[in-house]
Amino acid sequence: GRLGARKTDCDREVRMTVKSILAEKGTEVLTIGKETTVSEAVALLAKHRIGALVVTDNGGSIRGIISERDVIRHIAEDGVGALNQPVATVMTANVKVCTESHTVNDVMEIMTRGRFRHMPVERAGKLIGVISIGDVVKRKIEETEREAEQIKQYIATA
Ligand code: AMP
Repeated sequence: GRLGARKTDCDREVRMTVKSILAEKGTEVLTIGKETTVSEAVALLAKHRIGALVVTDNGGSIRGIISERDVIRHIAEDGVGALNQPVATVMTANVKVCTESHTVNDVMEIMTRGRFRHMPVERAGKLIGVISIGDVVKRKIEETEREAEQIKQYIATA
């Protein structure tokens, strides 16, 4: 019925936000200071099986992001000596962040346009999580499958 359909739409809106992704994966974020060496950053990326680290200052404000791609480019340009340098020389300082109320589609579009696969999530200037393209795609696929199932059921009972 009409009410049922509206409730489903509402649930969908909630399910398709950054907030709901964080609720599922948690809000733990690995951060490093900008004096951390690239080789220490590489060790952390490997240990935690992730692709990027958020660089913060002592107050916890975001100063940059360093991904495996930055490390590869830096080594290609400067050789393995790059590993001894501080992450400040490698990181991207102009970080695009999102909030919990961004939708999965918003984030997909921002990541696609900017050609990056990670986004820190901020609430009132504080870092409260990171979402990756993997989280976004997973949620999008789940949602698409759920919708297809609902449409099939609707057709079957029509
Ligand atoms: P990635 O696809 O996340 O490995 O990152 C590709 C490039 O984009 C690297 O140079 C990163 O430093 C940079 N990058 C990653 N995430 C962001 C972000 N949220 N905002 C701006 N640059 C980013």
